[in-house]
Formats: sequence, C-alpha cells, structure tokens
Amino acid sequence: MNVTVLAGGVGGAKLAHGFALCQPEIRLTVIVNTGDDFDHFGLRICPDLDTVCYTLAGLANPQTGWGRKEDTFEVLQCVAELGGPTWFKLGDKDLATHLERTRLLKEGQPLSRVVKTFCERWGIEAQVLPMSDDPVRTMVHTQEYGWIGFQDYFVRYGCQPAVKDFAFEGCERASPAPGVIEALEASDLIVIAPSNPWVSVQPILSLKGVSSTIHSKKAIAVSPIIQGRTVKGPAAKMYRELGIEPSALAVARHYQPFLWGFVMDELDRGLESSVRSSGIMVLITQTMMHNEQERLTLAKKILTFSKEIYQNRERREF
Ligand code: GDP
Repeated sequence: MNVTVLAGGVGGAKLAHGFALCQPEIRLTVIVNTGDDFDHFGLRICPDLDTVCYTLAGLANPQTGWGRKEDTFEVLQCVAELGGPTWFKLGDKDLATHLERTRLLKEGQPLSRVVKTFCERWGIEAQVLPMSDDPVRTMVHTQEYGWIGFQDYFVRYGCQPAVKDFAFEGCERASPAPGVIEALEASDLIVIAPSNPWVSVQPILSLKGVSSTIHSKKAIAVSPIIQGRTVKGPAAKMYRELGIEPSALAVARHYQPFLWGFVMDELDRGLESSVRSSGIMVLITQTMMHNEQERLTLAKKILTFSKEIYQNRERREF
C-alpha cells in the first residue's frame, strides 16, 4: 500500500513518524512544505524538512519537537558576543545540516537530491520529498507590518501580528519536486497531516498539479485543531483573525473539496454530525500524539479508516 503524507513541521512530522513505524507493510512518501525556507548567515534553512527528517531519524529534540536532541548552542552564544542576530535558534549540530546543505546547493544540486542524500545518511526508509526544488516563499500580510516573510512573522515577532492574508511567492513559477506528482498519483492513501492549514499545507496545495491530483484521488485529513485550540502554533489564531471560528469543523470545510475522510479528536465529538452532513466520513479518535506509541496508533487507525472508506465507496458504486 502506497501512503503519501503532506506535512509541515512538528504536527506533520509526528504523524509521518507514525506511518514510518508501519513500514514495511506500507510504502511511505512524505511531501514537505518548503515555504518556510529562508537564508540566514548565508545558509539555507529548511525548518519543516529538518523537523520531518530529524523526527524520522530519531534525532529530533523531544522537548521542542524541532531542532536536534542533545544539541548545544555555543556558536550562537559566540555570535551573541559579537552582537550578531540570535532571534533564530540554531544549535551546533543543527548548523552542520545547514552548512552541508548550503554547500551542496551551491555546487548546483537540487534540494530534492540533497534531502535524499541526508535521508540515506540518517537511515530514513521513507521517501521524503521537498514540495519543490524551486524557491517558494510564504509571505504573511499583517495588520501591523504589512507583508512580511514567514520567519519574521513566526520567530522574530512570535506570531503576535494579526494576519490579513497569505501569499506564496514564486508558486506560479515553481514546479513540484521530481517524484511529488508521481507519488500522489501512485498513492492508495493520501493523508493531510495535522499541520497548519494556512502556512504549512496551503503552500504545497498551491503548486501546479498538486491540488488537481489530490482532488481526483481524494484524501484523509487530520485536524490540527482540538477544542478550538492548536496543540502548538498560530493556526487557531489565524482562523480567528480571518473571521472564521477556529474548530475541527473549520478545518474540514477548509479541505472539503479534497476529502473523503476526516479525523478529529474525541474531544470534538459534538462537531461530528456537522462534518458528516457535508458528505465527509469521520473518524473520531484520540489525535493528540504524546509519544511514539500514540503516533503509531493514530497512523494504524487511519489505515483501517481508509479501508472502510474504500469498502463503503465500492458498495455504493455497485
Ligand atoms: P510547524 O511548521 O512546526 O508549525 O508545523 P505544523 O504546521 O506541522 O504543525 C503545527 C500544527 O500541528 C498545529 O496546528 C498543531 O495544533 C498541530 N499539532 C501538533 N501536534 C499535534 C498532535 O499531537 N495532534 C494533533 N491533532 N495536532 C497536532
């Protein structure tokens, strides 16, 4: 069974890891948002790709969910002594990833090839694909500062500015990375991970051919919003500022054209009938993934749910 997961950073990485633990029974591809990528100290930083890869490789920091475990920050401390910028936290081990990636990119290698090399080195069995080898930059239109880059919004201003809109600069010119459309087309199951719908999943969907391929195959999405709140990050705040009440129902409506199935938390049981009434099948379960076992359990439940959906569809078609 071919499973493809669309992922941003922390939420996406956790569920991707759950599916990775189901290998070799499934073949897993993870398509990762690169709209957050940026250059800092002359180095290419790819926050979501690194979070996904560190998580799949067992190298992630379990406290933060991003960065590497058992990392130190000596370089950044020395940068601080020199009066340099320290708003973006770069650990010493993490820096090695950015140094080597930048070197390979400067040699002319596409990002997808660099990711493949790193995955092989880190012993990652899943196929991890950046959404594109071309630059796409997520821009956030804010009340306070006008249009700003995503990392300025997210890290420098700590998600405080009120959002009015988003743009994915370069997405019209960018092509999906080699393998992205092929993986989607060959998928028996496409999963939209519990990632931020506005700034982690939307950039992937904005690329040529991605939405139409998912639309023709249909997907299962997992809500990143539980009881109107996010587990982490600004997705709920973004919904509110855009005039939409944040809830699992809002997420289901967001993805509605793509969905056959929707996974929402047992704490949101009260919203089940509203989601079902839009023709989407619903799985209610614990969606909080506190540890490896819960990641695996959720992934397995989604696999079973997808089989139920297919059986149901087949019955209706005959
Ligand atoms: P980011 O780039 O690191 O912000 O990564 P994502 O967009 O992948 O993740 C942020 C989203 O993941 C937030 O909206 C969180 O609510 C959601 N999230 C994080 N952990 C979990 C979890 O264990 N379960 C669910 N359902 N959502 C989660």
